[in-house]
Amino acid sequence: TQQIVLASRPQGLPTSDTFRFEEMELPPLSDGEVLVEPLYWSVDPYMRGRMNDAKSYTPPFKVDAPIVGGVVAKVMESKSEKYPVGTPVLGMLPWAQKAVAKASTLQKIDTDAAPASYYLGILGMPGLTAYFGLLDIGQPQAGETVVVSGAAGAVGMVVGQIAKLKGCRVVGLAGSDEKAKVLTEELGYDEVINYKTTQNLRADLKKACPDGVDVYFDNVGGEITDAVITLINHQARLVICGQISLYNDTQPTQGPRFLPKILTTSSLIKGFIVRDFEDENPRAIQELTTWVKEGKLHFKETIVEGFDQLPHAFLGLFSGKNQGKMLVKA
Ligand code: NDP
Repeated sequence: TQQIVLASRPQGLPTSDTFRFEEMELPPLSDGEVLVEPLYWSVDPYMRGRMNDAKSYTPPFKVDAPIVGGVVAKVMESKSEKYPVGTPVLGMLPWAQKAVAKASTLQKIDTDAAPASYYLGILGMPGLTAYFGLLDIGQPQAGETVVVSGAAGAVGMVVGQIAKLKGCRVVGLAGSDEKAKVLTEELGYDEVINYKTTQNLRADLKKACPDGVDVYFDNVGGEITDAVITLINHQARLVICGQISLYNDTQPTQGPRFLPKILTTSSLIKGFIVRDFEDENPRAIQELTTWVKEGKLHFKETIVEGFDQLPHAFLGLFSGKNQGKMLVKA
């Protein structure tokens, strides 16, 4: 069995030196443990933060220890009555071809309600992030304009669709014309700007948001966010979900100072971690599942095949290789 460990802490964008494949031996099962085989490994932007030796909301990965992430897996051997062989589960597990885990750290998933991979996407962490960030913090009202950066990613794709369900005008920012087309033609976005090819981001945004911006759901930060903030309305809500454009920075950068705009518009700017809403997960999962079943929410996945592709798939997040959720299939 192979596992992938953090070989060294990256400076800037991770490289092949960041990861090392190793042979490992699995320990025998103790009571309450199960042996699982992954079906899908999730690669997520937050994992970049855990590669740094810095204090954050989750502890850093240890050098020479396996990378750990979200996984859906199948129980292959069991010493837990609650998790018989064949049970599909969701857990935080090492990047390994097989793993031994305490059954109590795993969650059963309902693969009759939705495909197993959805529990890493729209019915999992990214979906919950979109749901709570937009609805609880963004508080979108019918007729308002919602702008979403990182609009074609796992979180952004869901944010825009929920905002449409709430009756908003939805404008997205994404990194290719193909992504823009999927968002407008298939997922209901009113307009999407390709931030990589635009000649004048601020002017294009202004045109796409003739009534200004009431809610900004920020997945990326940096210059895109600087441009959006110039257009916010009175009592806008700025939901700081992610700052992926800055995750590989080695030095802090200085952008326009936008706090005067927050002040003069009486706006709210709030960061959050999806875990803040843990107690409310059941109602969110129920509502998301209903919307998916009713065909009101759609989801896309970019699935890369093979355990050996994990580092490559992870790196692809930083160059926009994915549409919707980036996953690696066993
Ligand atoms: P995505 O599926 O959105 O993948 C990342 C996307 O970011 C890429 O596809 C790419 O799309 C875009 N991107 C990469 N680099 C840049 C850049 N320099 N400038 C602009 N866009 C860039 O990931 P997720 O949906 O999983 O996560 C989205 C954001 O939400 C991340 O910042 C993540 O850290 C954050 N997050 C926060 C959570 C929380 O609890 N607060 C929980 C989950 C995620 P493109 O082609 O458009 O450039």
